[in-house]
Amino acid sequence: MKRNNIHIVGGGIIGLCAAWYLNEAGVKVTVVDKNDFTEGTSYGNAGMVVPSHFVPMATPGVIAQGLKWLLDAKSPFYVKPRLNGDLIAWLWHFYRAANPMQVNRAIPVLLAFNEWSKALYKELADNPVFDFNYEEKGLLMLYRTKKQAHEEAEMAALAQRQGIDAVLLDESQAKALEPEMDLDVLGGLYFKGDAHLYPNQLMRQMVTQLKQKDVQFISNFSVKDFKKEGNRITAIFDENHQGIAVQHLLVASGAWTGQLLKKAGIKIHLQDGKGYSITLKKPRVRPRIPTILTESKVAITPMGDDLRIGGTLEISGLSPKINQKRVEGILESVPKYYKNFPVLNPQASDIWKGFRPCTPDGLPYIGPSKNIQNLNVATGHGMMGLSLGAATGKLVAQQLTQETRTVSDELFDLDRF
Ligand SMILES: Cc1cc2nc3c(=O)[nH]c(=O)nc-3n(C[C@H](O)[C@H](O)[C@H](O)COP(=O)(O)OP(=O)(O)OC[C@H]3O[C@@H](n4cnc5c(N)ncnc54)[C@H](O)[C@@H]3O)c2cc1C
Repeated sequence: MKRNNIHIVGGGIIGLCAAWYLNEAGVKVTVVDKNDFTEGTSYGNAGMVVPSHFVPMATPGVIAQGLKWLLDAKSPFYVKPRLNGDLIAWLWHFYRAANPMQVNRAIPVLLAFNEWSKALYKELADNPVFDFNYEEKGLLMLYRTKKQAHEEAEMAALAQRQGIDAVLLDESQAKALEPEMDLDVLGGLYFKGDAHLYPNQLMRQMVTQLKQKDVQFISNFSVKDFKKEGNRITAIFDENHQGIAVQHLLVASGAWTGQLLKKAGIKIHLQDGKGYSITLKKPRVRPRIPTILTESKVAITPMGDDLRIGGTLEISGLSPKINQKRVEGILESVPKYYKNFPVLNPQASDIWKGFRPCTPDGLPYIGPSKNIQNLNVATGHGMMGLSLGAATGKLVAQQLTQETRTVSDELFDLDRF
């Protein structure tokens, strides 16, 4: 049955893109958020739109690497040790998902989903109402060690087998791509087909455009509970027991979705992957091409005239605390790759944090609840929520209007664990 009145809980990139394509399909949409649609995980991220990222996070080998990183205070990965049933169950499912069969099943799906998303972003960028610095300059994976060179060569071969334009560069070829930067690297892997954009601009412009299209926005409403009648949710409530009646609900609340759905009696496995970024306004030198410093897992993105540097994945129970050591780890790695780049020492107020919604198998949850008739969920995009945002919004609209899906949503089932 086609839904004609939908409340979306969560106005991040997933919620807004769902609102966009549902509105296009003629559905009346209201977006409800605990904040005011000006900041959050979908704003300060690295803005990369990356079909090259077709391998899910849970891969064989990642566990051994993760355990080594746990011992290093400045490493790009951390799990706050705690006896928490949800975390233990998540780690168990992560461990089970990190096998070649599961990864091989996920690769073509993630690739097709990412490529579709890139095409949709291009369409949005071509719409004259938008100007969010969308550019197709590719993605450069720089490396400094022989071990990483070997891994990137394997990745290049795998990518080429998927039909991706992936080119291995030696030191001088990498330097030629970045003439302004004094590179200290062994080489790089260049994914020519990737894109990037300025997420803060995209998000702000989306809100403005959606308001003009009569999408309703309710800010500062933190959903704390649901009213259920039989197998339907009929209202959402905030902490003051203020209620909003709903006909159909899409929960797209990012890393908070797991704890929120518990209130509706629904269990999904989801952990937060906190990360940090800093944005330099018009820096004196900066790379031309979005780059990942592969050994340190740091992302560097030129956005308009600015430059954003981001990284780290901390599973720490949605803690808002900024871990200074890990921020130092990010910033100290940059001049190791670019000798003419200073070590930065930003003020605490200049450090942005966001929470990636991470599933155990690195695939999102996008689909209807089996138990609640008028509830759909869209979350769990982990490190790729921006990249997959447009396609997720469109897929949600296809699911809710009973249209044919452009990509298969089979692997995105909410109850797959
Ligand atoms: C450092 C860093 C770099 C990244 N770089 C990239 C990148 O280059 N490319 C990429 O694809 N991805 C990247 N990501 C990941 C990406 O930012 C996320 O996957 C994406 O933003 C998640 O979007 P979302 O809409 O699911 O969640 P969010 O953006 O977190 O939105 C969820 C919304 O729900 C609201 N909400 C939560 N609970 C409630 C409630 N109870 N009631 C009402 N509202 C609620 C929140 O206020 C929020 O506005 C990066 C992330 C980080 C941290």
